[in-house]
Amino acid sequence: MTAPDPPIETRLERIAALAAEYRDDYEAFGYYIETMWDREDRPAAELDALVDAIAADVIPQIDCTACANCCRGLTVGLTPDDIPPLAEGLNLPPEHVIARYVDRQGAQPHDEWGIFRGTPCPLLRGKLCSVYAHRPASCRDYPALTPDFLWQRANIFTGVGHCPIIFNVIERLKQRLAW
Ligand code: SF4
Ligand code: SF4
Repeated sequence: MTAPDPPIETRLERIAALAAEYRDDYEAFGYYIETMWDREDRPAAELDALVDAIAADVIPQIDCTACANCCRGLTVGLTPDDIPPLAEGLNLPPEHVIARYVDRQGAQPHDEWGIFRGTPCPLLRGKLCSVYAHRPASCRDYPALTPDFLWQRANIFTGVGHCPIIFNVIERLKQRLAW
């Protein structure tokens, strides 16, 4: 019989504390998954399907509008394609959006075009995105658990302490894989 899923945790301080406590565990858990998939010759897509199924249950139980921890704490990568929708949402010419909100110098030289100026994100109002329908692709995709969870896991695990979706999906994944 499978053990029941752990209860959903949404308290940000508790999640940060547990993630700090489990830090070494995540690395070992990642290695455990990789070894299991390799030993059993399982396709990476099978792990993605499992993560997607867990996330489909977790996400409706978490209210991002009561959290906004990613908008408050993460650096948001931008591409030129993000500018036209932002310009429309902000009702500003694209060059004004770039001048006012985009930091080109602070972006990683080889793989980023730009980032938002400062954290929290300058477009956050309270716990709500002021340009939600026009937000950048990286905001839409976050927390981007799949595809390629197997190979992206180290990057995903860096978000365990600040994103309740990531935290709860990983805790359930541990349970499902008998960790
Ligand atoms: S653009 Fe909106 S969703 Fe993206 S980081 Fe800023 S406030 Fe959050
Ligand atoms: S994606 Fe994660 S960190 Fe961002 S608002 Fe939703 S639960 Fe919070």
